[in-house]
Amino acid sequence: MTKMHRQSLVAYGQPLCETVVDCPSPRGSEVLVRIERCGVCHSDLHLQDGYFELGGDRRLDITKDRALPFTLGHEIAGVIESAGDEAVGATVGRHVAVYPWIGCGTCAVCRAGEENLCSAHRHVGIIADGGFATHVVIPHPRYLLDYAPLSPAFAGPLMCSGLTAYSALKHLGARAERGPVLLIGLGGVGMMGLAIARTLFREPPIVADIDAEKRKAALAGGAAAAYDPSDPQARREMMKATGGLLAICDFVGSEKSLQFATGVLARGGKVVVTGLLGGTFSIAAAMIAIKAMTIEGTLTGTLAEARELLDLARAGKIAPIPTHDRPLAEAQGALDDLRAGRVVGRTVLRV
Ligand SMILES: [Zn+2]
Ligand SMILES: [Zn+2]
Repeated sequence: MTKMHRQSLVAYGQPLCETVVDCPSPRGSEVLVRIERCGVCHSDLHLQDGYFELGGDRRLDITKDRALPFTLGHEIAGVIESAGDEAVGATVGRHVAVYPWIGCGTCAVCRAGEENLCSAHRHVGIIADGGFATHVVIPHPRYLLDYAPLSPAFAGPLMCSGLTAYSALKHLGARAERGPVLLIGLGGVGMMGLAIARTLFREPPIVADIDAEKRKAALAGGAAAAYDPSDPQARREMMKATGGLLAICDFVGSEKSLQFATGVLARGGKVVVTGLLGGTFSIAAAMIAIKAMTIEGTLTGTLAEARELLDLARAGKIAPIPTHDRPLAEAQGALDDLRAGRVVGRTVLRV
């Protein structure tokens, strides 16, 4: 019997370690995917910790609903190895990206096509075993999207960092056409957001990040201007240059990033928040109405958005972000480097 090797979470707050089990056989509509690449995401750090920082001493415990050992990893590209007898279209040998944000399929949000927001979800690498492994079982072939002619190292991360950025930019709506958008935070999601914004919008975006190297990478990637939000003059300079911004994506999601975002927002503007860094954000209540502001959160994106994004990428309309390949066995090292902020672009595990 084929063995499945995994870099498993065996205890919260502890390093991953290798576990080996028999490779599962897919049943019914299930599909077994042999993994080629799996991206390493910031949310993997939170999952390994077992909590999100909420600010002060408060933490959101996320250790429930997950049996250990557990396999992290939700940015998966691979090859269909076998399929259950009801898995129509799951041709063995097809190269596919995995849409990981799988819902219950029956609740109101799932029926509306927003499985990513399902409260009884089966998100791959979050609740269901994921991609820091040689294989993964996916419940239905509808979640498997052809990625050729892209590389698997580009296709996998499109399903999380790419999709998160794409969905956030779409949620800016018509405001994104009334001037440049501002992207705050240039990690994996932010850099993807920059590449996608260059395709979706007429004007090149403005970016903000506290890291000079990331600002440099963003300017090389087509940003119109790059600001350091930790510079006390940045807000004034940005207001002077733009008159305030109508459309902002906050890919950081911290007290400071939201203060900066709402501080440079024009009247009638909107901030879409995808970041999960944590902390507590407060605002003068009257400013919400006075500035007619909208603050909206998004969580990854829908299956339909994943298809749209892959179509754009496959048509060559999205420049790949820098990625670094590392062997699966170095999963913990990749997480450590991400935690230490030593990564520009995306780290992808090679299986
Ligand atoms: Zn992710
Ligand atoms: Zn559901």
